[in-house]
Amino acid sequence: MTDTDPTLAPAAALRRIAFLLERGREPTYKVRAFRRAAAAVDATDPGELARLAAVPGAGLRGLPGIGEVTERVIREALAGEVPVYLRRLEAIEGQPVAEGAAALRATLRGDCHIHSTWSDGGSPVAEMAEAARDLGHDYLVLTDHSPRLTVANGLSPERLRAQLDEVAELNQRLAPFRVLTGIEVDILEDGSLDQEDELLERLDVVVASVHSKLRTPGPEMTRRMVAAVANPHTDILGHCTGRIVVGRGRPESEFDPEAVFGACAEHGVAVEVNARPERQDPPKRLLRLAVEAGCPVAIDTDAHAPGQLDWQLGGCERAFACGVTPDLVVNTRDADGLLEWAGRRRGQVAGNRVARPRPAP
Ligand SMILES: [Zn+2]
Ligand SMILES: [Zn+2]
Repeated sequence: MTDTDPTLAPAAALRRIAFLLERGREPTYKVRAFRRAAAAVDATDPGELARLAAVPGAGLRGLPGIGEVTERVIREALAGEVPVYLRRLEAIEGQPVAEGAAALRATLRGDCHIHSTWSDGGSPVAEMAEAARDLGHDYLVLTDHSPRLTVANGLSPERLRAQLDEVAELNQRLAPFRVLTGIEVDILEDGSLDQEDELLERLDVVVASVHSKLRTPGPEMTRRMVAAVANPHTDILGHCTGRIVVGRGRPESEFDPEAVFGACAEHGVAVEVNARPERQDPPKRLLRLAVEAGCPVAIDTDAHAPGQLDWQLGGCERAFACGVTPDLVVNTRDADGLLEWAGRRRGQVAGNRVARPRPAP
């Protein structure tokens, strides 16, 4: 491309967008759409391209592979502007992702979503804790599954009480590292949480996730999720779409993201960036919405084995690409800061701004 040949600019802009999307790990179909449009521009005589762009309405859209978004990019480039789409991408993803993600990862002090052999994890709590400590974390939150998730050996109230005793003992041995108590509690069909209130109240951090009836129609799923987010026990909304992006995969659950993220912002519930490679949940378009809605964020691994505790960087890449800054991330806090955040939030919901006293870990 040269400055004297502006007709090449639209194709260059389209290819630059494809590059940035690709680097940001956007879906291949999206990347391809821009490259296809660039090829269509290449194949069109420059004079013809300008003529089509001047036709109001469907001029450029008559070319193969050019849709609403790519048409706008071409028009703006032909007018000598940097297309708005490209400008936005350059602003949030123009920095090398690796650097931004590494910087974000370096601010994380712990992990708020992990499993042990108490439910469907592969290692005992002590092994997970030692691995987290060796990664440089100050703490992890133990979040095994709740009773209804029988396939994952969810913990009955009795077993959860026994786990709390084990964690208390473990903390004596591992100090200053801390294992905080928690749960990944199922969001039931009516939006209630699958564990006794008394236990949810005692736990340090509550991650609430949908694991059943993922194909519930959108309006119903929205009500279900909003009810769970409004529950004063909920601190973090886990893998909100439930999608699986590898193998046969699983589509995203349908819900109204503005309603759900609006509720998260209102109740101070963190939206989880789930770093598991097969989940990568929420997708970036939703994570951007959550950031715009003012939600806190938790960047967690959902590790089921020690090596998986090192997957946080993948979550940081997506978070960075979506404009998540350290001040939004609850696990950039130290353990006391995290407890204060969770406690204060619950206090606020109860109409009491004073942090409630927390049991010693
Ligand atoms: Zn889960
Ligand atoms: Zn989990």
